[in-house]
Amino acid sequence: MTMLDSLRSIVQEVNSARDFGSVLDIIVKRVRKTTDTGVCSIYLHDPVSDKYILAATEGLNPEAVGNIRLAAGEGLVGLVAAKAEPINLDAAESHPNFAYFPESGEERFRSFLGAPVIHHRKVLGVLVVQQAARRRFDESEEAFLVTVSAQLAGVIAHASATGQLTRQLSPDLVLSGGERVFRGVASVPGISIGHAVAITSPADLYAVPHRAASDIDHELALFHKALEQTKQDLRTVHSDLSDKLNMEERALFDVYVSMLDDSSLGGEVTVLIRAGLSAQTAWSEVIIEHIRNFTSMEDAYLRERATDVRDLGRRVLGYLQQSQVDNKEFPSDSVLIGEELAAANLADISVEKIVAMVSAKGSRNSHLAILGRAMGIPTVMGAIDLPWRELDGNQVIVDGHLGLIIANPRPEILRGYMAQMEEEKILSADLERLRDEPSVTADNQHITLWVNTGLRLDSLLSLDRGAEGVGLYRTEIPFFMQERFPSEDEQRKIYREQMEMFAPRPVTMRTLDIGGDKALPYFPIEEANPFLGWRGIRISLDHPDIFLVQLRAIMRASEGLENLRILLPMISNIQELESALALVYRVYHELTEEEGYTLTKPLVGAMIEVPAAVYQVQEIARRVDFLSVGSNDLTQYLLAVDRNNPRVADLYHTLHPALLQALKQIVAGAREENCPVSICGEMAGDPLSALLLVGLGYRVFSMSATNLLRVKAILRQVTVAQAEKLAEVALTLPDNTQIREYLESAFTDPEITRLYSWAKTYPY
Ligand code: PEP
Ligand code: MG
Repeated sequence: MTMLDSLRSIVQEVNSARDFGSVLDIIVKRVRKTTDTGVCSIYLHDPVSDKYILAATEGLNPEAVGNIRLAAGEGLVGLVAAKAEPINLDAAESHPNFAYFPESGEERFRSFLGAPVIHHRKVLGVLVVQQAARRRFDESEEAFLVTVSAQLAGVIAHASATGQLTRQLSPDLVLSGGERVFRGVASVPGISIGHAVAITSPADLYAVPHRAASDIDHELALFHKALEQTKQDLRTVHSDLSDKLNMEERALFDVYVSMLDDSSLGGEVTVLIRAGLSAQTAWSEVIIEHIRNFTSMEDAYLRERATDVRDLGRRVLGYLQQSQVDNKEFPSDSVLIGEELAAANLADISVEKIVAMVSAKGSRNSHLAILGRAMGIPTVMGAIDLPWRELDGNQVIVDGHLGLIIANPRPEILRGYMAQMEEEKILSADLERLRDEPSVTADNQHITLWVNTGLRLDSLLSLDRGAEGVGLYRTEIPFFMQERFPSEDEQRKIYREQMEMFAPRPVTMRTLDIGGDKALPYFPIEEANPFLGWRGIRISLDHPDIFLVQLRAIMRASEGLENLRILLPMISNIQELESALALVYRVYHELTEEEGYTLTKPLVGAMIEVPAAVYQVQEIARRVDFLSVGSNDLTQYLLAVDRNNPRVADLYHTLHPALLQALKQIVAGAREENCPVSICGEMAGDPLSALLLVGLGYRVFSMSATNLLRVKAILRQVTVAQAEKLAEVALTLPDNTQIREYLESAFTDPEITRLYSWAKTYPY
């Protein structure tokens, strides 16, 4: 095997390892074998003692694990850590830093190569190989060790954040009452206390929570039923394909079926269920173990068999999960947690039972977060280190203001959060009173407050909050709920309902904005850079079949209502805009002149959400009836920060000076052309940002219904002149933090601060 092959197979094995301890064992075993040396060891940094502790070894005395501890700078391992670079010595014992530990049995090993394991600039550990022969490790060995270390860094950082590292280094240490805190991206504000429900994606072997069986006989019965169903499937495939397969290929199916027998996988699983594991847990553990064994085989043919085992594993799991879904009871205080929660996961549970949502992947502007905001459900996204499978059934607090998930909270923390929930209830009740008050600044200037909708639920909520219209109806949202493109008539009904609900208030129907992070299940788009790829208007123009049907549905839905505005997403050049406008007007003429509909010509607008459109704002404004700023995308494209990537979430700044300059330029360009402009990104719903936007010249805001009253409340406290002064100073500041601090310092009145600052209950 070449080093690259070894590396690839180590990574594969590590990825399918059962737990962190096995990861360390795999690495020391495989690295020692690949480099053909006497010893491979991993030392890990223990934050409690601030020492590097021997955590796994292949070659040293296993008794030394947990007992050899070195401070940074101490011994050769400590030196690698302190210098944060590899050290390669042919005679370790003559180095001045050499420290000898008799319990290690390392006196036989002369040469030493150590590489630091670094994550986000911190040395988390040291990976060491040693050998008896007095020879320097060569360059390729050093490069190999450095590469393995880099791979290991992410795994260790994850283990550290999930608490696995502490358990590995100090197995006896019990965390205070079992409380554990995880961080994610605060995505929908609010606090909820409830019970975690782990949502696994269908038939994902690695996503099965570790559950004990409550009724062993029942689990055994479930398991045998799933095996029978799978065997039946295999036999059907077998007979369907029998004339298309040769003998050997047919034999493969017999092998599959026999693998499910009691003498094989079936038997192993039965033993585990009898020992007290649930059928799903037992099955996935056995299959993962087999996948791991096959993956690590040198023979390519046998390695390939891992795929067969995985496939078989998923089939049986699919059946087990089916019977689970049929019976699954959701608690009335369900906190949905999962790897990548999506709208589809909401289908199996009634919304009233969901008190919070937490997803390990995704970020503030992911589709799920937008849905959460629409429904007012506190949501934390991008909780990368959340061991969500383990938390199933645990009590959790979700703090959507700070992006925290606190599992098994201490009583005093629980009390603190309960008190805060009470306070928020009082604030909402106060805000309710503003529902019918006009949306005006302290000097009586009207600010139009619209809502962003897409679900029926958020439209109802919006009307309840006194919205003056819909500034953004995301037409793609109803498309997600279908299994194929909705027909013209199906679309017309959905749009009609929306327009009727709000009439005579304006309703802005944005044409389909799929692509980017919004892929329809029935129209998958595979791209390396989806946000820079086939998205929004680009798809609509390439697919007039889809676009024209949508435009017809939208316009037909507006008959007799006179409140339709059509908005075009992702405009990045004039040709695109003109082609889209031509199609809009073509549909209008066909409907009115050829088909006899009586329609008022709709207003048509363009979204300003790509930097190119900012620079061409006047050219665009001249061609449309209105502009709408999409600050979510504008921020992502201007700052080159993926709006969904939790790794860069702390670089996603809607108060970045560059964005403020762009926002100012858009207003100026629109004014020159006498073109109305509104803003419909999430920023419009942030109370402090809203003040700044008034100062920059915006008078029309569109936001999630949940934020509407809070924004109204803050606008009523401030004059336009004050807001303008605020914007003037903010535009002179060099970065996001200073701008936020300045905005906060400008308003110290408690009536105002309680609208934008969230009490920080959690002490850390
Ligand atoms: C935006 O980009 O700001 C916007 C409102 O559109 P979406 O979030 O749907 O991309
Ligand atoms: Mg957008």
